[in-house]
Amino acid sequence: MVPASEHGISPDRIDRNVRQILARLDGAGFEAYLVGGCVRDLLLGRAPKDFDVATAARPDEVRALFPRSRLIGRRFRLAHVRAGREVFEVATFRAGHEAGAAGPGGMLLHDNVYGTREEDAVRRDFTVNALYYDDRDGSVLDFTGGMADLDAGRIRAIGDPAVRYREDPVRMLRAVRFAAKLGFRIEAQTQAPIFDLSPLLEGVPAARLFEEVLKLFQSGHARESLRGIDRFDLLPRLYPETAESVRRDPRGRALLERALVNTDRRIAENLPVSPGFLVAALMWGPVRDRAETFGEGDRARGRGEALAAAADEALAVQAKRTSMPRRFSAMARDIWTMQPRLESRRPRRVDLTIAHPRFRAAYDFLCLRAEAGEPLEERAAWWTEAQGDGAGPDPAAERSHRRRRRRRTNRRNRAA
Ligand code: ATP
Ligand code: MG
Repeated sequence: MVPASEHGISPDRIDRNVRQILARLDGAGFEAYLVGGCVRDLLLGRAPKDFDVATAARPDEVRALFPRSRLIGRRFRLAHVRAGREVFEVATFRAGHEAGAAGPGGMLLHDNVYGTREEDAVRRDFTVNALYYDDRDGSVLDFTGGMADLDAGRIRAIGDPAVRYREDPVRMLRAVRFAAKLGFRIEAQTQAPIFDLSPLLEGVPAARLFEEVLKLFQSGHARESLRGIDRFDLLPRLYPETAESVRRDPRGRALLERALVNTDRRIAENLPVSPGFLVAALMWGPVRDRAETFGEGDRARGRGEALAAAADEALAVQAKRTSMPRRFSAMARDIWTMQPRLESRRPRRVDLTIAHPRFRAAYDFLCLRAEAGEPLEERAAWWTEAQGDGAGPDPAAERSHRRRRRRRTNRRNRAA
């Protein structure tokens, strides 16, 4: 245990509402702690993304204690407790796996066996993610050596790294993500098995893998995450055709890097980032390569059709590895298929193009391609100009598009 006097967490940096949740659980006789990323981030002097609670209370006991709560979760049940305008995750201490919980190859099938707080700590992924903050006296509980690793800037797996990766291969990506986000090193033994075990990522359900890719590239540290991905040669496991394409074409590589740098900048500026745009950048190489083999003239229309067919095929192939919500793939597809219209030296229906709901994204993508070394600077400048003068977007179309976009954003937030 590390007493409050020996670490730098000051209670007023903790959300008031979550402190009330902790106090109510404590008042009802249940042990309760802050846990995971928030404790790690508080100790590092960073603002936590969210505050998660771990408690001895069972989900139904949490539910009974908080009128504004509901139980969620298929893989494991936990409570969402609403306090103020926010929702906090309150999870019951769980033991990791015991014999029988692991499937073929050691993959963890279910992990919803309740346990003690020590068991809850050791089933977590990395030591720096397994620290517990006790709001009663401000102390930090450390069952796995997380404090020392935090001080040393080390990502270290809890237990045998190879066993932990076999249980859940996504932990390999998480190691890369936390190292990038925190500016930490991955400790030697935690690194070592990744090269051999990375093929296990191919067995991860495609929807979960996509979520993890989004976390990697929307963490605000996407560029650094890509470095980690490269170090362990993980891109072929996530986006095999992209890996192949950027290996052959350095411009594809440059485009991807640019896109990630821009994403990081937008996040730093608190601007929204769109997964559809990210997908467009990630998969542009394979889509463009395919479109070329589909043999078309250089007329914009032929190329547009070739790109559409290429997009569908590339998306179908990629969906076996990472599957994404339809609205993201639809956006990527629109961005790609609008490129010929923007590349054209004699663009027709300029007003209509600019008023198109995806024009802005498609134009940004054209600029990205130009920055990455495709000979499109002059075209990008032309469209910049075209938007500037009277040929700007039709205000009515803009308004209705904005309204649509707002609705979509709300839906996304609700789903999250
Ligand atoms: P972030 O700041 O990115 O949210 P986080 O540490 O809070 O980082 P989450 O994915 O929100 O990460 O998970 C919360 C906690 O749950 C982690 O800190 C870790 O203790 C535990 N955890 C999450 N995913 C896993 C996993 N795949 N295996 C083991 N433990 C996990
Ligand atoms: Mg978190």
